[in-house]
Amino acid sequence: MAPPTKRTLEEGESLLEGVKAIVLDIEGTIAPISFVKEKLFPYVTENIESYLTTRYDEEETQKDISALRDLASKDKEDGKDVVEIPAKTDDNKEAVVKAVVDNVKALMDADSKTTALKELQGHMWREAYKTKKVEGELFEDVAPVLQQLAEEDFMLYIYSSGSVEAQKLLLAHSSDGDVTDMFTGFFDTTSGPKTESSSYETINKAISEDVADDEVTPGEILFLTDSPEEAKAACGAKWQAVLVDRSMDQEGGIEFTDEHRQTFMVIENLNDLFGEDDDDEEALRDIKRARMEGNGDFGGDDVEDDDGEGDDDEVEYDEEEEDGAEEDEDEEA
Ligand SMILES: [Mg+2]
Repeated sequence: MAPPTKRTLEEGESLLEGVKAIVLDIEGTIAPISFVKEKLFPYVTENIESYLTTRYDEEETQKDISALRDLASKDKEDGKDVVEIPAKTDDNKEAVVKAVVDNVKALMDADSKTTALKELQGHMWREAYKTKKVEGELFEDVAPVLQQLAEEDFMLYIYSSGSVEAQKLLLAHSSDGDVTDMFTGFFDTTSGPKTESSSYETINKAISEDVADDEVTPGEILFLTDSPEEAKAACGAKWQAVLVDRSMDQEGGIEFTDEHRQTFMVIENLNDLFGEDDDDEEALRDIKRARMEGNGDFGGDDVEDDDGEGDDDEVEYDEEEEDGAEEDEDEEA
C-alpha cells in the first residue's frame, strides 16, 4: 500500500466540503511576491521609454497616455506633487515620452494602484509575455492542484488587484503552460477593493450567474489569500476564507499573528485543501528530503517523528498508514 501522498475528497477532513466555487488571490498565494516585485515591475521601468517610443502613434498607446495626463492634471488641481504630461502636438513626441516615463516611475515609486497606470503596465506586460521576455511563475503545487479541482468540477476563479488582462496573461504564459482553461472567471478591483466585504458580495452575484438554474450561496465559496485583511472582508460577506502561508516557499510574505492563526484556517500548500494535516505534511517532507539525500533507510537521526524523538526503525506520518509506510520503506531500502 502506497503512502498517502494525496488524499481524495471522500476521505474527509477536507476544507472543500460543501464548497462549489474557489476564488484565489494571485500575489503571495499562487505566485511568489518576488515575481511581481522583481520581474514585472522592473520590466516596466526598464522598458517604458522604448515601449512608448516604438508604439507612440498607436491608438492604444495614445489612450494610455491620455489617461495618465488627465490623472496628473486632476492630481495637480488637488494640490498633489505630480509630473505633468504636456498635450500632444505635431513635434513634441520626445517631451511627452519623457514626461510619461517620469510620471509612471513616480506613480510606481508611490505604489499607486490607479487604473491609468495599470492599463499601461498591462499593455507592456502583454508584449513581454508574448515575446517571452517574461514567464508567469506559480508555486509548484498550484497547477497540479488546480487541475485536480477543475476535474472534480469545482468552479475556479481569480480575484486579484492586478487587472483581469494581467491575470490572464500570467496564467496563459506560466511556467506550467496555459492554465487559463481551468478557470471559470476572473475578477479584479473593478468589482471593488479586496478589503471590503461588498466586493465579495458583488463577486458572489457574478458567480451565481455562471451556474444554470442554481444559486451559489456565500458559504459555498472558499477564498484563498495570503492577506488576513482580505480574508476578513470575505468572511464579512459570509464566504469561507483560508489563509495561505507561503513562508516555506518565499521570503518577504505577510507574517501571520497568533490572532490570525486563531481566526482563520491556515494552509501552507494547496494540497492541504484535501485534508492532510500538518504533521503528515511534515513527515512526508522529511521522507522526501531523506530520499533526496540518499538516506534510504529513513531510520537515522535526520528524521524526526511526530513526538520529536528519532525512532530507530520507522517514520510515523500517519497512524493508520503505519503498515503501508513500513512496506514502502522496505521497498526503498
Ligand atoms: Mg496576495
